Parts: sequence; structure tokens; C-alpha cells
Amino acid sequence: MTEHQENHSCRVRPERDCVVIGAGPAGLTAALELSKLGHGSVILEADDVVGGISRTNEYKGFRFDVGGHRFFTRVSYVQDLWREILGDEFLVRPRLSRIHYRGKLFDYPLRPMNALRGLGVLESILVVLSYLRAVVAPFRRERNFEHWVRNRFGKRLFQVFFKTYTEKVWGIPCSEIGVEWASQRIKDLDLIVALRNALLGSVRSKDGEVVSSLIEEFHYPRYGPGQMWTRCAELVEARGAEVHLKAPVVRVGHGFRRVREVVVRRADGSEESFGGEQFLSSMPIGELVLSMDPAPPEGVLEAARALRHRDFITVALIVNREHLFFDNWIYIHSPDVRVGRIQNYKNWSPDMVPDAACTTLGLEYFVQEGDDLWNAPDEELIALGRTEIARLELASEEEITDGTVLRMRKAYPVYDGAYKDALRVLCLWLGEFDNLQQIGRNGQHRYNNQDHAMMTGVFAARNVAGATHDIWDVNVERDYHEQLKVDERPSEASAAGGERQVPAGVGPEELDAQIERAFGRYDPVALGAAVGIVGGVGLWLVTAMFVVFTPAGESVGPTLSLLGNYFLGYTASWNGAFLVLAEAGLGGFFAGWLLARAINCLVDWELRRLLRQLERQSALNILEGEHG
Ligand SMILES: Cc1cc2nc3c(=O)[nH]c(=O)nc-3n(C[C@H](O)[C@H](O)[C@H](O)COP(=O)(O)OP(=O)(O)OC[C@H]3O[C@@H](n4cnc5c(N)ncnc54)[C@H](O)[C@@H]3O)c2cc1C
Repeated sequence: MTEHQENHSCRVRPERDCVVIGAGPAGLTAALELSKLGHGSVILEADDVVGGISRTNEYKGFRFDVGGHRFFTRVSYVQDLWREILGDEFLVRPRLSRIHYRGKLFDYPLRPMNALRGLGVLESILVVLSYLRAVVAPFRRERNFEHWVRNRFGKRLFQVFFKTYTEKVWGIPCSEIGVEWASQRIKDLDLIVALRNALLGSVRSKDGEVVSSLIEEFHYPRYGPGQMWTRCAELVEARGAEVHLKAPVVRVGHGFRRVREVVVRRADGSEESFGGEQFLSSMPIGELVLSMDPAPPEGVLEAARALRHRDFITVALIVNREHLFFDNWIYIHSPDVRVGRIQNYKNWSPDMVPDAACTTLGLEYFVQEGDDLWNAPDEELIALGRTEIARLELASEEEITDGTVLRMRKAYPVYDGAYKDALRVLCLWLGEFDNLQQIGRNGQHRYNNQDHAMMTGVFAARNVAGATHDIWDVNVERDYHEQLKVDERPSEASAAGGERQVPAGVGPEELDAQIERAFGRYDPVALGAAVGIVGGVGLWLVTAMFVVFTPAGESVGPTLSLLGNYFLGYTASWNGAFLVLAEAGLGGFFAGWLLARAINCLVDWELRRLLRQLERQSALNILEGEHG
């Protein structure tokens, strides 16, 4: 089909192998993979920049992210891709983040002694008392997140370190957040690492600073995550794909279980239709369903409307000071300000700031589209940010010379009580289409990181080339902190051969195996048999040697005969040798059996203690949000 005007309002574009909706990490990675597999694509992006939530914005040369985007992955395929795209511009950066509470900075992840020191004597006493109360009289049934935390830390620590921030992020009381949210995150624990840390502790120098080699590091593009995705878009275009900005998809035409076209509406109201063989969508799955033409049944539409999101505002402030603090970001727990987290972009990469005498802060407000903050004019938000920075004593109002605001719709897919059923309905209905796949964060309503979004794009592209990956199953065990086991590049052969090749999460079986390895148990029968055999045979041998080597006429082993005090009827003779073989064998077996049981009891007790401690430790990480 050639490009032509179909009618006055809708231009029809030439048909492509593949139409990709959204130029975020998922869409761009899919397009890159498609190009490597020899498939052309057109990428339709609603915004005027690429990168989606992982974009970098620029204001008068000062760069800032939506939040801050660490590049961290266990998937070597993703790591290689990042390197391939950015080369030397992909920096390794140190990480430091702390909690700001009532004028003090606390280590993050939380460390109990540091927390108690920072809280002062009186508050510390109250914290300890409330912890003891939780130990003595815990909630019998943990019905919500608040119960879960209070049972492990007590009420006061919950109020100081968990309540405010969690409620700022999710906009609902902790008592309305399901207990699964916490336990799900605990499941993501890398047990061996956690055990090692629990057993050895983290290494600190005398003055209490974390030894520098142990400070966590992460990758970050020199000019922010947007650099990665801008470069990726350039690569994709160089390989023949088209990237259309300001091209929001408003309608998806379909028939006979196939998508026929997607229609974008330009700013001037004109529409363009893009046809293709295959369609990949990273737009929010609910919006995708609502834009289907003809419309799906009412039940499906209802499910599409049921999915909820949390929106996000970054207020970027330019501060006329060279250095403010060392952290990449600070969690703000103080209830007297509305800001939830503050990024210091200069600490992410010095090149984020064009003037070394200045610093850019990103104040993060977790909001709901249409609420007071979302609707507030930019100047008001900048003024609010300025006041809050001064109140937190991070800089004075006069030092803040300029600012800008970025609103991000649907930054967080919400996992509420309704989402699972709604998603199931949508998946069932969309699953009927032969040539439509949903990829990425909002495309799958998945609270993920970039690497997960990218892998859904990679596998969807491979499906276009004939593979049969289940893209909904990418790392299904882990929905936040990705720890995929896929270590190999998905091979051309297996993809072309249609072999199912889905990355698997580290599942519960593997956790059990790790526990088994770390805390091996003694087999009572085996230890009993070993002790019995060694004891019985050993004494038989000694007795036999005395009997054989004692010259005739001399009494055999007078000292050895003392064994008669321990073994019934024992004498230093052949009879005695076989008697002691039986008695020592049997006695040894029981002694070994008992010893193994006792050791196992101790190991079990220690394991339970450690697991409880680990659970608490990982709960200290629970604020991580995206930077997990
Ligand atoms: C505050 C915050 C901090 C984060 N920190 C990290 C981090 O440290 N590390 C990390 O790896 N991840 C982080 N993430 C997650 C990361 O941003 C996402 O995993 C990633 O951006 C998802 O990529 P995506 O392509 O699936 O979706 P998106 O980034 O949402 O991209 C989707 C694209 O589709 C476009 N689109 C939507 N609707 C339409 C339409 N109708 N027509 C055309 N285009 C459309 C959007 O404009 C967007 O560009 C963070 C997220 C947030 C909110």
C-alpha cells in the first residue's frame, strides 16, 4: 500500500511489518530487536520525547529524570544491550541514600543502632518499649501492612520510618495496604546475600562510614536515562525504522481476531492510520482496550476502567550552591512536608548540571491526576518546593534561583483489590487477537523496572519472528526487583524454531535449595551408623590386636580390660572383641543419632532466628520503591 489521503481527516500510511505503540524502554527495545531480526517497524509515541517514564528532561541545560533511574539488572542480555547502546557513556556511579526525619538524616537501609542514636534517648526508650510490647503482644492476625510492620518493629518505629513515606507514595493509609505487599517483597530476598550480611554484618570503618568498596554501585548514563533511549531511537532509525513523536494512538481498528490499523491523532486534530502485520503495545492496557474499535463487550470495558494508577510530579529546583549533600536521593519521612523523596541529580552524574556552581534537586510528589497538587499551577508547585526545601534545611529559599515542573501520568500501576481480576479479563479478551502483544510497564499493568519492560519487548519481537514466548510470564516470580535467571542471549535458532524460552524467576524451590545448602542438616541414621561403626569396629580391632599379639601365657591387655566397666561382660578376649563390636556399635549408633538430632535442633533454632532477622532487615528496605 502506498501513502495516500484516504479522506479529509485520515491519512493512511504504508503498511509495516510491525507497529509499536510507545517509545519507552519496552517499545524501543522491541523495535531494536525487530531490526536485528530483519523486521521493519514504525514506533508511535504520544509524547514529544522518547524514553517514557525513563526519559530525561532538560531545562535551561539542567537535566532531571522522572524520579531517578538506576540501571541495575541480573539479565546479562539487558546489560549487554545497555552497553551496546551507550558504550563509554554508561557510567558506574556510587549510591548513597538516607532518610530525613525531623531534621536528622538516618542511614538507609535502616540500621537499628543508627536509628536509635538519631532518635535521641527519650524516643529510643519509647521505641524499645513499643518493640517489646509488639514482641509480647503482637497482632495475632496480620490483616494489613501496618500490622505486619508493627509486629516486627513496634508501633513507634512504624510511625517514624514506615507510615508517612508509604502513605505519601500510595496515597492510602497503611492499614488499607494488603499484608501481601510486604511479604511479596520479602520473597524477593536474595537469601544467600542476606544470610552472608546477617552473619558477617556490613563492614564499617572506625568512624562508622561504610567502607568505600562496599558502597553499592549502579550504572547510569552520563546524561541521564533519556540519553540511553534517545540513542536507542537513533539506532533504531538508522536501521530503517520510523519513530513518530506527538503521535498518540487514539483508535485501534480490528476485525476477525486481528488488529488492522492503529489511528493516531495529531495536535491539529488530523488523524493518520498505520497498518501492519503485527502490533506491539506499551500504552496502558486499559487505554488500549478502551480505544478498540469496534468496542469490546461492556464487562471488558468495565475491567479496563477498573485498573488504577498513581501519578507523579517532579519539581526540579536549581540551587545556587556547588554542594548540598552526598546522597543520590533522600527519603523524606517528615510528615510536615508533602514532598516524598528528593533527588540530587548532580550526584547521579556531574554532567546532569551544566554549571558546576549549581545543583539541581528533584522533589518528588506522589499524586493523583486531578488532585490539588496535580491541578496546581507550576509557579505554585515551585513555590511549595522552595518552601519545603528551606523547611527541611537543605538549602535556603534565596539559594533557589529557578525551577520547573514535570507531571507524569500513570507513573505507578496500582495493585489494589480489583486489579488482578480486571487484568485477567483484559488478558483473556486481548488474547483472542493473533497479531497483538502487550509489552512493558503499563502495557502489562506491571510494577516493574526497565529491564523487565525491555525483556517483554525482546520476547515480543522474537514472537513476531516466529517464537512462542509467553511475554506475560517474563520473570513472573519477581514483579519489582528483577533477578531473572536468563543469562544467555536468546538464540536465533531457538527463537526461529519456536521453542518456548521464558526467563524464569528464582522460585520458592530455589529458595529452599539455597536454605538447604546454607543450613545442611545431619542425617541421624547416617551419623549414628558412622559413630557406631567407627566405635564398634575400632574397639574390635584394638581388642583383636591385643589378643593376637600378646605372647602366650601373659594376661591380655590388663588396662584394656577396664573397658569392662563400660561394656557389659567385656573381657580382653575374642569373645570380648565381638561383644564390644555389638555393644559399641549399638551404643555408638544411638549416641550419633542423638547428636545429629541435637545439632539439627540447634541449626533449626538458629535458622528461624536468622530468617526472622532477615525478614526484619528486608523490611528496612521496603521503602525502596523504584530504586530497589
Ligand atoms: C519514580 C520512578 C522511578 C523509577 N526508577 C527506576 C529505576 O531506578 N530503575 C529502573 O530500571 N526503573 C525505574 N522505574 C521504572 C521505569 O521507569 C519503567 O520500568 C520503564 O520506563 C517502563 O518502560 P515502558 O516502555 O514499559 O513504559 P513507559 O516508560 O511508560 O513508556 C511507555 C511509552 O508509551 C507512550 N504512550 C502511552 N500511551 C500512548 C498512546 N496512546 N500512543 C502512543 N504512545 C503512548 C508513553 O508516552 C511512553 O513514552 C521508575 C519509575 C518511576 C515512576
